[in-house]
Amino acid sequence: MKEVILLKNGELALKGLNRRTFEDMLIKNMKHRLLPVGKFIFTPSQSTIVAEPADENCDLDEAVAVISKVFGIAAFSRAAAVEKDFDTILTSTAEYLGEELLAARSFKVEAKRSDKKFPLKSPEICRETGEYILKRFPHLCVDIHNPDITINIEIRDTAAFIHGKQIKGAGGMPVGSSGKACLMISGGIDSPVAGYMMAKRGLELMAVHFASPPYTSEKAEQKVHSLLKKVAAYSGRIGLWVVPFTEIQEAIKDNCPEEIFTVVMRRMMMRIAQRIAVGNKAGALITGESVGQVASQTMHAIACTQAVCEIPVFRPLIGMDKDEVISLSRKIDTFETSILPYEDCCTVFTPRHPKTRPTVDYVEKCESVTDWEPMLEKAEKEARFIFIN
Ligand code: ATP
Ligand code: MG
Repeated sequence: MKEVILLKNGELALKGLNRRTFEDMLIKNMKHRLLPVGKFIFTPSQSTIVAEPADENCDLDEAVAVISKVFGIAAFSRAAAVEKDFDTILTSTAEYLGEELLAARSFKVEAKRSDKKFPLKSPEICRETGEYILKRFPHLCVDIHNPDITINIEIRDTAAFIHGKQIKGAGGMPVGSSGKACLMISGGIDSPVAGYMMAKRGLELMAVHFASPPYTSEKAEQKVHSLLKKVAAYSGRIGLWVVPFTEIQEAIKDNCPEEIFTVVMRRMMMRIAQRIAVGNKAGALITGESVGQVASQTMHAIACTQAVCEIPVFRPLIGMDKDEVISLSRKIDTFETSILPYEDCCTVFTPRHPKTRPTVDYVEKCESVTDWEPMLEKAEKEARFIFIN
């Protein structure tokens, strides 16, 4: 019996004329992500895509693990694909779902017949399958309201599909369908979650990380690689730029009042990240900021960082509590890595008494004593590029 995966593509169905493009993008993403598992053939039909292993060696358990992290899929199920012959359908149902049926006490049958040439109508399929299952599994009873297991039979153009439970997919929209954005990633808890959330909305991710050796260690950068790898399990491959930030940070320390160190540092980061983003055809920045979480994230401080940005800045965590962010970071498995104790460039020069209500005028005045442009240019030029898979 051939086993396939049936994918229901959630929000895609809403996109009218764009649906084909979205579907093509979803299939392209799945093909790419399933490469390490094996080759699959994808066949769209109505709001379902059938993923069929192209050879015997494909491990369907592994494929399911990958697919559960691909955005654009609302739900999916493993299914047996059999000939559209009713006797075959009946025996295959008992065989394919046998274990689950033995463990259950009640069941119901749901049938969908999109191939109208099939001789039995949906209610007949349900009734006859129900009778057959009751005979084969006499311990079961039918419960149409709250069954332990629902047997689904779908008669489609290419084959009949038999499946039990549906598994919830990752939701969202296919990565790339909304364009590309640049994630500013620290080694903290928030930014990886922010990247995950925006990838879910269909954005392809690239990333920028500021490192300040020798204040920050090689291990701190490795931590960022590990975090991005976890995010990439959802978003697909991420191109990372690591920007040397030491010189700028030291210049900030030498030239600006301590109370606005962090805000000036953020503005410098935004300026550089924006240039790298635009140079790589990304249309927005993404940060893990949340209002009021720390002094550099008060509304006034955010206004100061925002003032240097010419492209949109997406801050998906802006209204979230820390515990909400933590529960998402556990879900995407970044939490344990994020809490490893390596120094971040932000923690190195943290002011003792940061100004919580800085104004753009004041910060600009403080910055104006130094010519930052050569330093910004140099940092951008010396950035290193790595692909994270
Ligand atoms: P995170 O948990 O993401 O580090 P945080 O709550 O610690 O966030 P900050 O350290 O103030 O907050 O950083 C705010 C945002 O600025 C981060 O979410 C991230 O998007 C960006 N950022 C901070 N440090 C860096 C860095 N070294 N490289 C790139 N982006 C950074
Ligand atoms: Mg941080």
